[in-house]
Amino acid sequence: MRRRILLLFPALALPSLTGGAATAQQRPQVVASFSILGDMVGQIAGQRVQLRTIAGPNADAHSFQPRPSDAEALRNAALVVRNGLGFDGWVDRMIRAANYRGPVATATEGLVPRRMEAHGHAHGHGGAEQRQPHAAAPRTAPDPHAWQDPRLGALYARNIARGLAGADPANAAAHQAAGEAYAARLEALDVWIREQLAAVPEAKRVVVTSHDAFGYFGAAYGIRFLAPQGVSTAGEPSAAQVARLIRQIRAEGTTAVFIENMGSPATLERLAREAGVRVRGRLFADALSEPGGPAPTYEAMFRHNISLLVPAMRGEGA
Ligand SMILES: [Zn+2]
Repeated sequence: MRRRILLLFPALALPSLTGGAATAQQRPQVVASFSILGDMVGQIAGQRVQLRTIAGPNADAHSFQPRPSDAEALRNAALVVRNGLGFDGWVDRMIRAANYRGPVATATEGLVPRRMEAHGHAHGHGGAEQRQPHAAAPRTAPDPHAWQDPRLGALYARNIARGLAGADPANAAAHQAAGEAYAARLEALDVWIREQLAAVPEAKRVVVTSHDAFGYFGAAYGIRFLAPQGVSTAGEPSAAQVARLIRQIRAEGTTAVFIENMGSPATLERLAREAGVRVRGRLFADALSEPGGPAPTYEAMFRHNISLLVPAMRGEGA
């Protein structure tokens, strides 16, 4: 008789087998557009949500092409987390393709972005010599790389925590508290970075990288970042842009030249060779490393970049 009851009510029997614990199916699914946001969601939400990151470790999110299976992930999502400011616009296309109507948390919400000239060069970055003359006022676009300032990362954390609290109301207080604790850790990271950079004289705070990913980092810490490629990684820099940068590296005696973890290092390696300087390593710009790599988390990314930048700017081992 007992066996017969179980057969009649299999759905009722199931919860007792799992001990009532939340299964993967019951946890809200959160989709993050790229690896840095994925880490932030994981730091705040932990196991309370099921996380899927679309553009993974070392992926170039500027030129990312989502697969059909990525749009499929949106069908069961309770929350989508994106950067905004034109960085991960392909998420909006995925949202339309999947007909997703749920909440979207924009990590940069409420932030006043830095502006870039539309052809790529940051305002005031590189000095007058590097700016191209315009007859009319230059068109500007927002610089999307705001995560490179950890104090703005704290704003990301709070925006994400608010999104999580809305999408997972049963755990709202836990998400908000974890978001605040994480934001406080990022503000402490900012203090640590300032302490490390105190060892670098102001005149030596010049760094060359592949593309303009470090505008916010440079503005936060008084470092001039020069790059042959603009704020996006789309398109190749012109020969004139590369030649101008080589002249500037030679004129300033810059030795802090780096490649980035996403995309091809070819342009920077050629540029360094022609300028007669050595590439000092790989900075993590728009994506994290694999879990076992040097920058598996957002916080580890700063510690890794600082460990390379400080000795390079000081000219040690050049
Ligand atoms: Zn970028």
